[in-house]
Amino acid sequence: MTQEIGEFAALGLHPNVLAAISAVGYEEPSPIQAQSIPVILAGHDMIGQAQTGTGKTAAFALPILSRIDPAKREPQALILAPTRELALQVATAFETYAKQMPGLSVVAVYGGAPMGPQLKALRQGAQVIVATPGRLCDHLRRDDKLLATVQQLVLDEADEMLKLGFMDDLEVIFEALPESRQSVLFSATLPPSIRSIAERHLRNPQHVKIAAKTQTVARIEQAHLMVHADQKTGAVLRLLEVEEFDALIAFVRTKQATLDLASALEAKGYKAAALNGDIAQNQRERVIESLKDGRLDIVVATDVAARGIDVPRITHVFNVDMPYDPESYVHRIGRTGRAGRDGRALLLVTPRERRMLQVIERVTGQKVAEVRLPNAQQVLDARIKKLTSAIAPLVVEAEANYGSLLDRLIADIGCSPRALAAALLQKATNGQALNLADVEREQPLVPGFQAREPRERRERDGGERGGERGEYRERRAPMPLAEGRVRCRTALGTRDGIAAKNLLGAILNEGGIAREAIGRIQIRETFSLIELPEEGLDRLLGKLKDTRVAGKQLKLRRYRED
Ligand code: AMP
Repeated sequence: MTQEIGEFAALGLHPNVLAAISAVGYEEPSPIQAQSIPVILAGHDMIGQAQTGTGKTAAFALPILSRIDPAKREPQALILAPTRELALQVATAFETYAKQMPGLSVVAVYGGAPMGPQLKALRQGAQVIVATPGRLCDHLRRDDKLLATVQQLVLDEADEMLKLGFMDDLEVIFEALPESRQSVLFSATLPPSIRSIAERHLRNPQHVKIAAKTQTVARIEQAHLMVHADQKTGAVLRLLEVEEFDALIAFVRTKQATLDLASALEAKGYKAAALNGDIAQNQRERVIESLKDGRLDIVVATDVAARGIDVPRITHVFNVDMPYDPESYVHRIGRTGRAGRDGRALLLVTPRERRMLQVIERVTGQKVAEVRLPNAQQVLDARIKKLTSAIAPLVVEAEANYGSLLDRLIADIGCSPRALAAALLQKATNGQALNLADVEREQPLVPGFQAREPRERRERDGGERGGERGEYRERRAPMPLAEGRVRCRTALGTRDGIAAKNLLGAILNEGGIAREAIGRIQIRETFSLIELPEEGLDRLLGKLKDTRVAGKQLKLRRYRED
């Protein structure tokens, strides 16, 4: 067990839960965890003010699991979440943290899926129920004793639940729970409606909140990029191509992530190493020395391991995983801009983490501008620029030193000077992709957040190029429609946490049409387009009238292009 897990151990969690945390590679509790875990373990009711990204799920899941008796096959904990996505995410988190607890089972109960399997899992004695309020009420109508044994209740994202109109359902659920239970409420904001629930249904709740002091981060140019979690490595690789960095530190959350990203970077030829709490202190010092003297250019670190790094060469900080709180963000980006130099900090944000970004902006008092991922053309331009600046200074002396050799090679091989120069370039670049098609093939990215590829852009606006560094602009061209399909539009987009799979899932589930009938799905920041069959469209839109995705009304409408 490492020194850092020790911090978790000091909180009083069950050894099996500690073993699971160690296996996922968390090194230390996040601030909300350090404060909430002892309170929940002690059995107090609690109000936690925290948003996604702070580690709030583990803040309640770890102490709850520590207090469950897996030998009793009955519901012991109930977690309410506003949307099916969050419910599934929370249920998965519980399963991960319960890996070393034989006999413990978790059931997710949410709308848009058949009741049967959920009911079966409930009857088989799942100890943890993670549910959306609406569907749980449906189950309660069939069995009003369902929650009679629940000892611990969590309302996760309570403000979102109320926004979605679950107030009445919540009252029904409170009625069905034993009075003696412990109740914990997590909410990003505490409007009067939430306070009133707390007054009525919680007993002497303790408040847990992460204090936010304003911090200044002058001299550091900050930007953020929207990405999906599974695009992060690809995104980092693209960014490294266009960012002109000297040394760089990339922050991730787990030990495993330090190893994975460092090896992906090494595989691409970067001088990169991982730095995490499992690495012995003298080895850590060696890594930092290497970063100082240029034997390494990139260090991929967890917060714990990067503490105290002071390397003036660091020009860039990449926040590959979101920090838990604004203080840790400020701390991380303070690794650059050392010794009065300018620094640049990039933050990767997944759609669910937008709120955290806003909090960071508020606390730092600075706007963290959005940039887009560079497209293949920008990657190619950057590669050519690097090649040019590597070759240009050699030209004069190289001709004096190698001119006669060149003449001889041309004669011996019997080729043109151009052909010979091309062959030498191929060797010099180690076969690196230096045309658009090859760059695209080498760095495929799921469409979504990167800038449009240049071909479409040229068609659309006559060859306008992306802006200067940091402005990987986006241009969208309408795509041609397949025969018999029409485009429909919803006002939900990435800023609502929507991904194509959510839209697809909802339309397949509730529209009852075949997967093949659905064409291209384009997700934008403030809206999304989806291609659907023209035939039967009105009926389909009628079926989807009340459908919600990510907790919000889908409101799909036919979209007229002109
Ligand atoms: P949440 O705020 O619950 O949505 O959690 C955000 C992310 O942080 C999840 O991907 C967790 O796996 C991760 N996480 C939570 N606690 C820790 C921790 N102590 N150390 C590292 N990662 C964590």
